[in-house]
This record gives sequence, structure tokens and C-alpha cells, in this order.
Amino acid sequence: MQPLVDAYERKIDYLRISVTDRCNLRCVYCMPPEGIDLAESKNILRYEEIMRLVRLSASRGISKIRVTGGEPLVRKGIIEFLHDVASTPGIKDLSLTTNGVLLKGYAQQLKDAGLKRVNVSLDSLKRDRFQKMTRGDNLKEVLEGLEEAQKVGLTPVKLNMVVIKGFNDDEIVDFALMSKTKPYHVRYIEYMPFNTQEGWQRDKCITAKEIKEIIEKAVEPLEQITDTNGAQGPARRYRFKGAPGEIGLISPVSEHFCGSCNRLRLTSDGKLRTCLFSDNEIDLRTPLRDGSPDEVIEKILMDAVREKPKGHTINENIFKKCSRTMSLIGG
Ligand code: SAM
Ligand code: SF4
Repeated sequence: MQPLVDAYERKIDYLRISVTDRCNLRCVYCMPPEGIDLAESKNILRYEEIMRLVRLSASRGISKIRVTGGEPLVRKGIIEFLHDVASTPGIKDLSLTTNGVLLKGYAQQLKDAGLKRVNVSLDSLKRDRFQKMTRGDNLKEVLEGLEEAQKVGLTPVKLNMVVIKGFNDDEIVDFALMSKTKPYHVRYIEYMPFNTQEGWQRDKCITAKEIKEIIEKAVEPLEQITDTNGAQGPARRYRFKGAPGEIGLISPVSEHFCGSCNRLRLTSDGKLRTCLFSDNEIDLRTPLRDGSPDEVIEKILMDAVREKPKGHTINENIFKKCSRTMSLIGG
């Protein structure tokens, strides 16, 4: 079978699947306080529809899948679905991005279903700040979820912090210090321009370079980790000498990594996005529901990949903020 290769010779082997647009939090950088207009449930792909896409894309070389949302753990039947994805021939790596609120109760079941790792989003270690940023009072649950994920072996446990100037940049160092006592991979993500009430402004985005400088000035120089050890991805990886954990810097805004982008994204309402920042979406729900044979759906996938943009344009004057919120794309 012909693998998925785009017009710039990038091999596409990674699919991010959003299984729901619903969420039990309302992070300021992702959603307005009242939430967003949710899709009617008939417009959300059923698990068996997603599984058909998983099988077809696995036969074309997709080997890594990340499940996301909204909050994936709020969708009923998620464990069985993950088990089916993990058992699909060709799928070698299955991971999940979660806000961690329900993680403690699910961690063992996730591991048993075949999940390899979790990425947990956490932007503050202070209860009142966490409340302000997520509009939920769940810091304790998230921290317990991290511990449980570590305990059951959903490792390395990655912790994603979106850094926003004036909101949580004063906690950059506290997060970095966690990697000295816990085996977590603490990853800093630059604040990205999506359609939120909060309103993205460039000066609220602290760059990865600035984050590294803040950490090194406050603590000590970081050692760069050069071995990929199976962990390829957009993060530049560092550690404090002798620390059990790691530090990762992800710079989609200041230094994009489009040249090595290997991803496709599927939204919960069945649209394929070939670039996180491009609103150009390809409808898969209709062909999945109108009796189209596998060959037709495979051709749509191949054609979409061929049209994958070379890179995003955030740093160019022509850039328009994405019309969907992150919760509708999946991150
Ligand atoms: N609800 C899950 C969670 O929060 O982990 C999964 C979905 S969430 C949309 C996926 C990721 O997108 C999270 O790590 C979140 O922090 C990140 N995210 C959302 N809006 C963002 C923005 N404007 N800039 C950077 N990251 C963002
Ligand atoms: Fe929900 Fe994740 Fe968006 Fe926060 S970032 S509102 S947890 S989808």
C-alpha cells in the first residue's frame, strides 16, 4: 500500500483524534466561560466510524495515534474504544491528552486498554490560580491523577503547561523544579492564537527561548538531551544534571517545526485538518455515512495529505486566527 507522503516529502505517520467537543473545564485560553456551541450528537463521529478511519489510515502507514478532545475521558465508552485502537494492526503507539480531572479513576483501565502514555495539561500549581485559569476547582484531582498515571506505568508522564504572560509565567520555575523530584516530563507550550474570548496577543506569548533563560537564571544550566530514545516530536528536551525528570520546550509560535510535521488531525465532527493552524478542513463524515467504499475514503485521505500546507503563517502579516477553538480541534 502506498504510504501517506505529502508534496514536501514529509511522511505522515501520526493521527490525532478528537473524540468529543465536550469538556469538564473551561480554560481561559481555550473556551469562553459559558462553553462553546456543541455539535449535535448525531454529528459527532461514532466510535465505529472512527475505527474505520483508524484501520484505513493504519494500512497507509499511520502508526501513532493520540486521542484528545474536548476532554476525552468524559466520552462514554472511551476505554473500549482505546482498546480497539491499540489492537489495530499497524498501530504501535497510542497516547492520550487529558486535563487530568478524571485520570486517577481511569489510569489503570487506560493502561490495561493498551494506552502507552498520557499528557496531562496543568498550568498552575496554586489552587486559586488553577481555578482562575480553568474555571474549575480540580487541582487536587489532577495532581492525584499524575501520581496514579506514574504508578500504573503510563510513562513517561508528560505535563503540559501553556505559559501566558501575566497569568502563570511566575510559575515557570516551580514547574521546572518538579523535574528534579519527579520523573515527569515538564513541557512548556507557547500560547497559540485560537478563537477564544481571552484574545490572543503576541505579547502574552512567552517564547521557548525566554522560558529556558528564566529557568537557567533561577536554577542552573540545563543539559540538552540528544538521544531520541523513541521520543521524537516537536519538544526540545533538557534536564537538570542528575534529575529524574525532563524539561521540554515546544515553540509552535516562535520557531515552528513545520518542516518535520508528520501529523493529521481528525475533529470529533469528522473533519480532517492537515495543519493545526489552517481552517482548511476536509469532510470525512459524509463519505463515512453515505456508503462510500474504503477506496473512496482512502483517496480522500491521500488527496488531503498531498494538499498539506508547507507551514503555518503565524509570523506573517497574512495570518488569521483559527476560527475553531482548541477544544474543537484537540490540540
Ligand atoms: N482537554 C484535554 C486537555 O486539556 O489536555 C485535551 C484537549 S486540549 C484542547 C489539548 C491541549 O491544547 C491542552 O494541552 C491545552 O493546554 C492546549 N491548548 C488549548 N488552547 C491552547 C492555546 N491557545 N495555546 C496553546 N495550547 C493550547
Ligand atoms: Fe477543556 Fe482541554 Fe480546552 Fe481546558 S484545554 S477547556 S481542559 S479542552
